[in-house]
Amino acid sequence: MSGGHILAIDQGTTSSRAIVFDDALHPLAMGQQEFPQHFPRSGWVEHDPEDLWRSTVSVCRTALAQIDGGASAIAALGITNQRETTLVWNRKTGAPVCNAIVWQDRRTADLCARLKAQGHEAMVTGKTGLLLDPYFSGTKLAWILERVEGARAAAEAGELLFGTVDSWLIWRLTGGRAHVTDATNASRTLLYNIDTNAWDAELCALFGVPMEMLPEVRDSADDFGTAEPEIFGAALPIRGVAGDQQAATVGQACFAPGMVKSTYGTGCFALMNTGTSRVASQNRLLSTIAYRLDGKTTYALEGSIFVAGSAVQWLRDGLKIIDRAPDSQQMAEASDPANRLYMVPAFVGLGAPYWDPDARGAIFGLTRASGPEDLCRAALESVGYQTRDLIEAMRDDAQGMGAGVTPADALTLRVDGGMTVSDWTMQFLADILGAPVDRPQVLETTALGAAWLAGRKAGVWPDEAAFAERWRIDRRFEPAMEAEARAALYEGWRDAVRRTRSDA
Ligand code: ADP
Repeated sequence: MSGGHILAIDQGTTSSRAIVFDDALHPLAMGQQEFPQHFPRSGWVEHDPEDLWRSTVSVCRTALAQIDGGASAIAALGITNQRETTLVWNRKTGAPVCNAIVWQDRRTADLCARLKAQGHEAMVTGKTGLLLDPYFSGTKLAWILERVEGARAAAEAGELLFGTVDSWLIWRLTGGRAHVTDATNASRTLLYNIDTNAWDAELCALFGVPMEMLPEVRDSADDFGTAEPEIFGAALPIRGVAGDQQAATVGQACFAPGMVKSTYGTGCFALMNTGTSRVASQNRLLSTIAYRLDGKTTYALEGSIFVAGSAVQWLRDGLKIIDRAPDSQQMAEASDPANRLYMVPAFVGLGAPYWDPDARGAIFGLTRASGPEDLCRAALESVGYQTRDLIEAMRDDAQGMGAGVTPADALTLRVDGGMTVSDWTMQFLADILGAPVDRPQVLETTALGAAWLAGRKAGVWPDEAAFAERWRIDRRFEPAMEAEARAALYEGWRDAVRRTRSDA
C-alpha cells in the first residue's frame, strides 16, 4: 500500500538533494550529497553523468530510510533539476558519450557569435523566447555532435539520445523505458518552439540536431513512467517534472499573472508569471514556459543576475573581511550611511537586462573613511539594486504588452534561497523596490514545487487554489524608505552601472 507522501528530487549544480514531504506539505526527511565539478579548460564546466545518477539515488535512499515505511509510504516522485545542462547517451547500452556539459559552460561562445553574425538570433528568439547564448542546451548539443568522435554518425543512425538532467534521471530510473522531459525543461534547449509547444525542425536544422534523439515532451504534472522497484524497494510513479527556477515559481504558488518570485542563491533568478500570453521582452529578458498543466501553457518573463550570494562569498573568501556569510549583516548594520559605496559585482560580466559579458566589477565612492563595513553594506545592497533593474525591465515589458499583469504599484515579490535568511538584505530589497517582499515559511520552494506537481498528478495534493491557500508567509518586509531617498539611491546605482559597462 502506498502512503500519501511525495519524494522530491532536486538535482542541482553542486549537489543532489532529496526531500520527503508529508501530505500537509511539510518536509519530513532529507538527503544531500555534493559531487565533483570538472573544469577541463578555462570556461568549461562538466559533470560526470554517473555522478549525477549515483548521488541522486543515494540521497533518495537516505531520505527514504528516515521515514516509516520507506518507499512504500511514497505516492509519487517529483523531479526538479539544474536546467540546460546537456547529456547524450547510447540508447542500447545507456552509456553517456561524454560528460554532461553544464549550463555555466562557455565553450560554445564562438558558435553563438557566429550564428548571431549570420543573423539567426531574431528567428531563434522568436520561436524560443531565449537568446543565442552558450547558457542554453542547443549549442552544447551541437558541440557534442560535432566534436565527440563518432557521435554524429551514431546520432544519425538513431543510436543516441539527448536529454537534460531530468530526462537522464528518468531514463535511468525507468530502466530505459521512458525518454521524456517536461515543457519547462524543453523550453531551455533552443530547440523547442514555445508557441506551438513542439520541437522545431528549423531550429534542429540550424543546430544540426537529428530530431529522433529528442525526448517526448509532457506536461509538468504528468505520467513520466515508473521507477524500477529494485532501485528504492518499491515501484515509484514519476508524476512531476520542472526545471529548478520553474519549480520554485510553482513552489511559491505564483499562479496568477503578475506574481514574481526571486531566488537568491549563488546568483539570482526572477520569474514573473505572464499567464497564458507570452510576452516578448523589449528589455532582453527571456520568455519561457513557467509550467504546463492539463495541456495549458503558462508563460513567464525571466531575468537572471549572475552574482548575488557569491558577492558575500567574495567578502568572506576573497577579501576575508568576514568569517561567515551571516556576519555580513552585522557589518552592514555598523556601516555609516555617510560613507556610501556602490559595488557593481560584475565578476563574470553583467546578466539581465544588460547582457554585458566583458564588464568587470567596480566599487565607486571610496574615501579614506571607507572601511570593511561599508563594503559589506555595498555588497548586500547590490543584490537589491540588481533586483530593481530586473523588476523595472519586467514592469516595462508587462505594461508594454498590456498582458493583463499586475500594475507596477501592486507588485509583491516572493523570495527564497540561502541569502533570504538575511533580514537586513530583505529590508533593503523592499526599500529599494518600494514594494513588499514576502519570505515564506518553507524556504525549500524548489523541491516543494516538484513535490506539488507530482502530488497533483497523483491526486494526493489539491489544485492550484488550494495549494496557494496553504502557502504560508514567514515574514513580510514592508518598504520603509522615503520615495525621494529611494530615487536618489537608485539613480546613483544606475550611474555606477553606466560607468562599469564595457559596451557603454
Ligand atoms: P545555491 O543553491 O546557489 O548553492 P543557496 O540557496 O544555498 O545557494 O544560498 C547560498 C548563498 O547564500 C551563498 O552564496 C551565501 O554566500 C549566501 N548566504 C547564505 N547565508 C547568508 C546570510 N546570512 N547573509 C547573506 N548571504 C548569505
